[in-house]
Amino acid sequence: MSDVMVWHQEALANRAVEALRKNFFEAVYFTDAGRAAEYIMGFVNPGTKVGFGGSMTVKGMGIQDKVQAKGGLVLDHGVPGLSPEEVLSVRRQQLTCDLFLTGINAMTLDGWLVNVDGAGNRVAAMTFGPGKVIAVAGTNKIRTDLDAALERIRCFASPLNNKRLSRPNPCVKTGICMDCQGASRICNIYHVLKRKPLATDFTVVLIGESLGY
Ligand code: SF4
Repeated sequence: MSDVMVWHQEALANRAVEALRKNFFEAVYFTDAGRAAEYIMGFVNPGTKVGFGGSMTVKGMGIQDKVQAKGGLVLDHGVPGLSPEEVLSVRRQQLTCDLFLTGINAMTLDGWLVNVDGAGNRVAAMTFGPGKVIAVAGTNKIRTDLDAALERIRCFASPLNNKRLSRPNPCVKTGICMDCQGASRICNIYHVLKRKPLATDFTVVLIGESLGY
């Protein structure tokens, strides 16, 4: 990455971190995913129950393997081969896990976290339940305000997640949200954290790379 790009990532991240702290979140910035992964693993001990919210950013950091290597228990409802009942059970266990790791669809320079969910287990766990929540995002997720954050989700996060999950929704053809109305729609819960939830220990980890979608 060029010096100019590094400067820009840090400038945006510093402003976002300052805003997040004003909103009572813990917030930290790392220049690369490797250092961020080391920081996150500092919260994992043998026996720690770690819930995974389906984040491509977290997946790309190899954290599940690191948790298992350290003796932690992985709670991932996305493991291939799980029955619908098992998926539901893991999602419920995530709500009371020790550490919940999630991505963020978009965040604003005001320090708001903006997510769109299908079932709602991810945003539920982000809001209340786990012993600690860590939300991880590359600086590519930062937008100026709520409208721009929702636009990011319509243009990038939701269509790409539909494609990843092979959903039969119109966005997998157009690459952009078509506000579909069928039962297979995955954009059902629009969730904005403007401040840290009162009873949740919540850290946002920002990384100066383009990660996830
Ligand atoms: S509302 Fe429908 S068309 Fe729009 S991104 Fe979500 S699933 Fe795709």
